[in-house]
Amino acid sequence: MPEIAGPAAAALSSLCPDDVIFLRSLPKAELHAHLNGSIPIKTILELAQEHSHYSALTPEVAETIERLRSGVILNEIFDFFPLFPAIYALTSTPEAVAISTRAVLQSFLNPASDGAENPQCAYLELRTTPRATKYMMRERYLTVVLDEIEMYPATQAALIVSVDRRMSDLDVEECVRLAIEMKNNGRRVVGIDVCGNPRKGDMQPFTRHLSRAKGAGLGLTVHIAESTENTTEDSLALLSCRPDRLGHATFLSDELKALFFADIPQPGTECSLLSECPCIEICLSSNLLCKTVASLDAHHIRYYLKNDHPIVICTDDTLPFRTSCLGEYAMLLAQPPLGLGLSRDDVARVARMGMDAAFLRPHHD
Ligand SMILES: [Zn+2]
Repeated sequence: MPEIAGPAAAALSSLCPDDVIFLRSLPKAELHAHLNGSIPIKTILELAQEHSHYSALTPEVAETIERLRSGVILNEIFDFFPLFPAIYALTSTPEAVAISTRAVLQSFLNPASDGAENPQCAYLELRTTPRATKYMMRERYLTVVLDEIEMYPATQAALIVSVDRRMSDLDVEECVRLAIEMKNNGRRVVGIDVCGNPRKGDMQPFTRHLSRAKGAGLGLTVHIAESTENTTEDSLALLSCRPDRLGHATFLSDELKALFFADIPQPGTECSLLSECPCIEICLSSNLLCKTVASLDAHHIRYYLKNDHPIVICTDDTLPFRTSCLGEYAMLLAQPPLGLGLSRDDVARVARMGMDAAFLRPHHD
């Protein structure tokens, strides 16, 4: 179980032991976790040590590692993305990708070493953007990650292939093609994600590839309306692909919600465009620490809870946000202002909704 800090730790430490036991025992699905943002700090330090044996750490990489070790403070969401080149520098070989993937899977799915604790979650859909480096092609990258994921049963772990908003048309096409080919070859790829700096990229050209992925039977999730700078056109392009889940959706307008969510009343008209309700991936600590949401009280989770719209509680990036599945669930149960003050029954219902939103649906077969 990772050490946690910040709002999740504050919420967790406010709970009585009985509540903590209750939260630990809930089967949870982690459906929005980025591989490179979820590497335990211990593994980052080991990779840095190894890296320094064959080439010097650049000052930028060394500085970022120190920030991650001591606790990152972000002033806004756009301070978040520059952390990643340092992590990528440490995970550029197939060996380093295997080591970090294994460590991430263990941190989510293995009980703590003393055997007393449940694993963080019962089911994990890990996501990552396939990277080509001078040591490997994208296909090798995905194969290495899948080899580690498939060490776990299909009821516990699966892969979502991410495409980055900055990618060229050719790169998106390659990533989607690899995801479809690997799925068709029996590898455990279950979905496609669109991620990356919300300021970058034009989503219109992505839609062709995303629709193809859906047509091939892959689930689709998209980071959407994550910042105030995402336009309506940007959100519309992504929604037009009929995603199954939405990451964050913090600033999605009421008009778009009414148009695309079947359970949200559309003012002045009789029916919605869609009969489905894309599940919203909620990352409380991530939003608070990136300062896209001012407080739990102002968080959009309240809107979705009120409308009984499907949500799933996720960590996003446990490394910089220093959180865990347990910590995020503690923020549901803790009393305000540290938490939302939900009842145990409501928290259990939220956890079930999360399990139901899995792409693989292993629990339903
Ligand atoms: Zn994310």
